[in-house]
Amino acid sequence: MAEITVHQGDLTRQRVDAVVNAANSSLLGGGGVDGAIHRAGGPAILAACRRIRSTDWPEGLPTGRAVATTAGDLPARWVIHTVGPVYDHHDDPAPLLRSCHVESLRVAVEVGARTVAFPAISCGVYGYPVDEAAPVAVAAVADALAELAGRLDEVRFVLFDDASHRAWRAALDRR
Ligand code: ADP
Repeated sequence: MAEITVHQGDLTRQRVDAVVNAANSSLLGGGGVDGAIHRAGGPAILAACRRIRSTDWPEGLPTGRAVATTAGDLPARWVIHTVGPVYDHHDDPAPLLRSCHVESLRVAVEVGARTVAFPAISCGVYGYPVDEAAPVAVAAVADALAELAGRLDEVRFVLFDDASHRAWRAALDRR
């Protein structure tokens, strides 16, 4: 059974097969973790995102979906881009946040990644409170791992700040 782990740190420095990007639907870069990934990974990631826009998702990637690109110069091999819900745009954003995690792991398995690191999707500019997001994210990953039995080794949540780190620790401890 794959392990779920919680770390505090910088997603762009993780030695895992795939890191998940909290992207926006344009896939053309942004602030927060998205900006950090493009800065550290170099122009190959943006070039791959542009190709996806001109082929599979001309209108942009819908909320809750995920796509994989090269990770460029990052230690990881793939970046999996997913679009989290803007907290205030939905009566119940939880199913969309859940979908981001499930779809990202589905894509990870598709490309052959066995270790995957997630940031706190939607918990920055998109305004999702960490105490609400953490249990949704952890449950989504646990359920997806049960379904994808044997195809993943580790899913690592990498939280940048103390508050999100505490929230994810608590969510994992309660399971
Ligand atoms: P969103 O638009 O989905 O809210 P953000 O990038 O604004 O995405 O924020 C998502 C989370 O990522 C926030 O908790 C933010 O503190 C965190 N974050 C920002 N930079 C990094 C990084 N280099 N590594 C890990 N987490 C990061």
